Amino acid sequence: MTTAPLPDPAGDSALLRLDDVGKTYRSGNLEVEALRHVTLSVAAGDYVAVMGPSGSGKSTLMHILGCLDVPTTGTYLLAGEDVSTMREDQLADVRNRRVGFVFQQFNLLPTMPAWRNVELPLVYAGMHRAERRERAVEALARVGLADRVDHRPGELSGGQQQRVSVARALVTEPTLILADEPTGNLDSHSTEDVLSLFHELHDQGRTIVLITHEHDVAAQARRQVQIRDGRLLDATLAGAR
Ligand code: ADP
Ligand code: MG
Repeated sequence: MTTAPLPDPAGDSALLRLDDVGKTYRSGNLEVEALRHVTLSVAAGDYVAVMGPSGSGKSTLMHILGCLDVPTTGTYLLAGEDVSTMREDQLADVRNRRVGFVFQQFNLLPTMPAWRNVELPLVYAGMHRAERRERAVEALARVGLADRVDHRPGELSGGQQQRVSVARALVTEPTLILADEPTGNLDSHSTEDVLSLFHELHDQGRTIVLITHEHDVAAQARRQVQIRDGRLLDATLAGAR
């Protein structure tokens, strides 16, 4: 199924466009409506915080935005491409080309030095080894870890580990950076560290969607969107219906 482009409140610069998206999880005869009628546009270069309590649908929204999952209903356009009806292999391709992920738990491989963790997305992209290493080292330098490229995660602080995972998110030069509770496991000093890194990335023109339940973290973004019980609250929306 293909969908014609919809009228767009964010104009032609909309990088992400969700239109009336719903997501229902089914296990056995139990159904959970994790997202309901979600309509949201995010312009290229924007920095948006998605805020909501535990269980409100934040991670589900992130999975859809990051092409880790598809909506049950509605459409999702990423850079003009309708990804809501793609097969898993197509989604994997879009994900690898367009999205960099940062997770609360860092998700680093403990036995690998920082640079090997950072180069992983380039392995999946089929790049040659020497170029991968060069790019990984460069990405680590961009997050202030030029002197830690050979350290394993266990030899780094929490804040440094999260910077490694930001470098891993950046190494493919993604269109979109998606962060799910990236400061959830960090002390206040490391939180500031990671947030100032996001500021730099935003200043460099990157598009960031940051998911958090912390107000002071969300306040760092240019725009806040509230989610409750799978619905976006109207007042926070550009182009809400
Ligand atoms: P948040 O990230 O805001 O805590 P989630 O998106 O993880 O919220 O979850 C939203 C709702 O969907 C919750 O009620 C949760 O229990 C349910 N849910 C999330 N993932 C699944 C799944 N894979 N299967 C069934 N229910 C799920
Ligand atoms: Mg979550």
